[in-house]
Amino acid sequence: MLDQYARKIEYVRISLTDRCNLRCRYCMPEDGIVKMQRADMLTFAEILRVVRALAALGVKKVRLTGGEPLVRRNLTELIYALRQISGIEQVALTTNGVLLPTMAEDLLRAGLTGLNISLDTLQAGTFVELARRPLFAQVQAGMEKVLAMGMEQVKFNCVPIYEVNDDEIPALAALAKDYPVKVRFIELMPIGCAYAAGYRGVPMTEVWAQLEKAYGRLCPVGKKGDLLQGPAEYYQLAGFAGQVGFIDALEHQFCAACNRVRITADGFLKLCLNQKNGLNLRKLLRSGISDDNLKWALRQAVYRKPAEHLFRDSKNTAKDSRAMYQVGG
Ligand code: SAM
Ligand code: SF4
Repeated sequence: MLDQYARKIEYVRISLTDRCNLRCRYCMPEDGIVKMQRADMLTFAEILRVVRALAALGVKKVRLTGGEPLVRRNLTELIYALRQISGIEQVALTTNGVLLPTMAEDLLRAGLTGLNISLDTLQAGTFVELARRPLFAQVQAGMEKVLAMGMEQVKFNCVPIYEVNDDEIPALAALAKDYPVKVRFIELMPIGCAYAAGYRGVPMTEVWAQLEKAYGRLCPVGKKGDLLQGPAEYYQLAGFAGQVGFIDALEHQFCAACNRVRITADGFLKLCLNQKNGLNLRKLLRSGISDDNLKWALRQAVYRKPAEHLFRDSKNTAKDSRAMYQVGG
């Protein structure tokens, strides 16, 4: 399925809930959250129906996110069913890791093909300051479990922030020294609570410099052939079992190669992370639309995917007011 700029759309990120067991300061406010009504969330049957239609249009990869996707009940049933859909080659998940100690094995058994764990710090004190919940021990146990299981395609995502975790960048990257995983540094984006929290993201150029100082030259890994691997640029460091990656949304826009769309937990097809245009799928699904008309509506909507995210354009009238926990990153 091609959009108006001839980008091939092969990847859908589906948010399963706006609920979360953490309250990361750059993502979610502590109070005043108006939770989505459960009846408004897409059911598993509705999600599967949309993914079947998308797969028929060429989508090959699904990523489940949130909020925290592991708090959605019976998640493994959904993963298993997604894996049965013809054309879907990868079913991955992004999690804060808190529930991994009890769920990691079931996720793997259900057929999960990739796991991204958000990990901004290795210090329990910084964790509680950043995520407002004293749950670092669970995340650490979950991480250890996943690493011991030898799951392929494990990535750690870290958002470096001045005076929060900027002194931990080499230590976080060192996970890729000891294990065949990818550690990705992601630029703090001006979405949701990021700036209200008073946070300033560390630019990727500085992350890069810190890593080269600690570990020597970063050698590019034959890149982006596989867009299903996402927008990161990956690098190898001498003596590392895995790789490090950079996602530099603001400085080096990756929009020209964007291959994804998003679906919010309440069934809105979002065409770009930072823009509000899209399609109310829930309304269509609950109005009894036929499979053919659903595919037609998806194709028409995806065609209108905007050229770029316009993070830096303060006059962007299509800017989405949803926070990250309502979109899924
Ligand atoms: N709860 C899960 C987790 O934390 O991995 C999945 C949802 S969370 C919204 C997905 C990702 O968005 C996390 O890696 C988080 O660090 C990232 N994120 C949230 N707000 C962000 C922001 N303002 N800038 C950059 N990344 C952000
Ligand atoms: Fe929850 Fe993930 Fe947002 Fe943190 S980043 S508050 S874990 S949704």
